[in-house]
Amino acid sequence: MKKLFLIFLIIPFLGLCQKNEISKDLFTNYENFKETSLNKRRFKHIDIQPLIEKLKSINGFKITVLGKSIEGRTISMISIGSGETNVLLWSQMHGDETTATMAIFDIINYLKTNKESLQNIKLHFIPMLNPDGAEKFTRRNAIGIDLNRDAVRLQSPEARILKGTRDSLQADFGFNLHDQSKYYNARLTEKPATISYLAPAFDYGKNINKTRANAMKIIVQMNDIIQQYAPGQVGRYSDEFEPRAFGDNIQKWGTSTILIESGGYYNDPEKQFIRKLNYVSILAAINSISNKSYENISVEKYKSIPKNDRKLFDLKITNLTFTHLGENYTVDIGIHHIEKENNDHTEFYNMGRISDIGDLSTYYGYSTINAEHYTFKPARTYPKIIPSFEEFKKLNFKNILNQGYTTISIDSLAPEIKFIHYPVNIINARNIAILKNNTIPKPPLNLGSNPTFLLYKNEKVAYAVINGFVYDMRNNKNEIINGIVK
Ligand SMILES: [Zn+2]
Repeated sequence: MKKLFLIFLIIPFLGLCQKNEISKDLFTNYENFKETSLNKRRFKHIDIQPLIEKLKSINGFKITVLGKSIEGRTISMISIGSGETNVLLWSQMHGDETTATMAIFDIINYLKTNKESLQNIKLHFIPMLNPDGAEKFTRRNAIGIDLNRDAVRLQSPEARILKGTRDSLQADFGFNLHDQSKYYNARLTEKPATISYLAPAFDYGKNINKTRANAMKIIVQMNDIIQQYAPGQVGRYSDEFEPRAFGDNIQKWGTSTILIESGGYYNDPEKQFIRKLNYVSILAAINSISNKSYENISVEKYKSIPKNDRKLFDLKITNLTFTHLGENYTVDIGIHHIEKENNDHTEFYNMGRISDIGDLSTYYGYSTINAEHYTFKPARTYPKIIPSFEEFKKLNFKNILNQGYTTISIDSLAPEIKFIHYPVNIINARNIAILKNNTIPKPPLNLGSNPTFLLYKNEKVAYAVINGFVYDMRNNKNEIINGIVK
């Protein structure tokens, strides 16, 4: 009796150890399998077609064209394996959520030479379910429908493709792959929810049947793996039932559905580390489905994953005192870096924005400055007008900031210049008259405005905050992001 009990204790433990070993190998050897032609978040249907095309000649892979998007782009499925258990993975139902699409091509590279991980299972990948959205780097499809609210009405060809594929495969497991805002955090902590999971509910009562329980078990295992590489940075998505969404319905239709949301990570604007975490954890999950090791996991552990919250700023400045109409006010400031795209949705620059002001003690920042013992000075324009952009590039920016100037006016600035990789903002000298045309004095900081100001200590500039990015004037290792043209 005692021995038997011990075995029951040891078997799940061995399963976990083995799982950690597998994930360590996957993590260490990742670079051998990374699909290097995809290396930033903005890419399109045309960029993944050659990758799909090449697989046609590789033994074991089968490509099926499932149909076309509204604008006529093909939606393909890549299948590999011959086992009994069907696993369907789809990404980019939302066109601007590309992290898992990159990871899918990494996983496929791995499977080219590691077919032994496919025992008992058959995998089916649909990368980029919404190619029309991807073209414009936008969430919705070409007629403005959110595919994740079209699982029942099925007005979009893309939604019909997903439903039809799930039905024809009668998939045992489904991986619903998304991105979430980088401003999500693990509740009551300053840690970003780099990965969030959900085993969606299939009814308003949030009941747990075997289908949903299996999804929860897989999530518990994936969470254990992510915790090794991004400790504390996993959140659990709300399981409020959404009767129009795919995850909820696919769970209802009998496929154990795992939602993965890729959020933010420190200094990873193109989400390449998060992509690697997707690769490691999804492959480990595939392995677990293949050898059924998930079956021993307790569903209860799912509930111990902290909930998602949305309390992060890119930069949080606390205890900053400024003067307005003769009075002092001490506030915290929450700053977001908003991405502004070029016309063909392939590149972006950052526009800083003050998103909140006041008591922000319940919020967190990717980076934080305590301004308590610093003196605030508002943005100020360099008195000399610089004749051209070429002349501007020759300036000594550190000197200019140290003199207390944050903004430089240029006389003949080409209108296509919207941002600059320098630690100042610029204005077109011809626009100055318009900017000065205000009668009521505005506070030096305000909601929605561009966060550009200086923090002094002992009469010297300690921090320059330019376009929402902080430059520490006491060291020379500042990474320059971008200033803007006002
Ligand atoms: Zn999404």
